[in-house]
Amino acid sequence: MSYRTDNVFARILRGELPAHRVYEDEHTLAFMDIMPQVDGHTLVIPKYPAEDLFDLPAEHLRHTIETTQRVARAVREAFAADGIMIAQLSGAAAGQTVFHLHFHILPRSAGIDFRLHARDMAPGAVLAEHARRIRDVLAAGH
Ligand code: 5GP
Repeated sequence: MSYRTDNVFARILRGELPAHRVYEDEHTLAFMDIMPQVDGHTLVIPKYPAEDLFDLPAEHLRHTIETTQRVARAVREAFAADGIMIAQLSGAAAGQTVFHLHFHILPRSAGIDFRLHARDMAPGAVLAEHARRIRDVLAAGH
């Protein structure tokens, strides 16, 4: 399969669809997952048009994983998480549903289970509040 420019994350990058953004730089963007599996579920994408992990040049991969680390640190603090799980699904057989490469940041705490993958939309006000919490930590330079 080759990269399709009409996927939802490409449309978010172009500003054609809204997203609760938490971080952006020259190479990457991070925003809240619209169907979070756990509160604080955040996605990090490269701006480079890569369909999956195997499609991204190494330099862009470095930028993307550095942003993932930076945002994951902020998510961990914002949600007082005991741990952070990073997930990356490449290929439909692995469960990938949006074909623009992304890393999932999933805060984990004892006793809090995952909701089902890509199932229930969270209210916009909740996502806005969660994004604000993460942005506040980033703004504080943590
Ligand atoms: P994948 O299954 O490809 O690894 O994950 C795609 C993720 O994108 C899912 O967790 C799903 O909830 C999320 N998602 C799907 N459509 C949208 C959207 O329009 N906006 C946002 N913010 N997330 C989306």
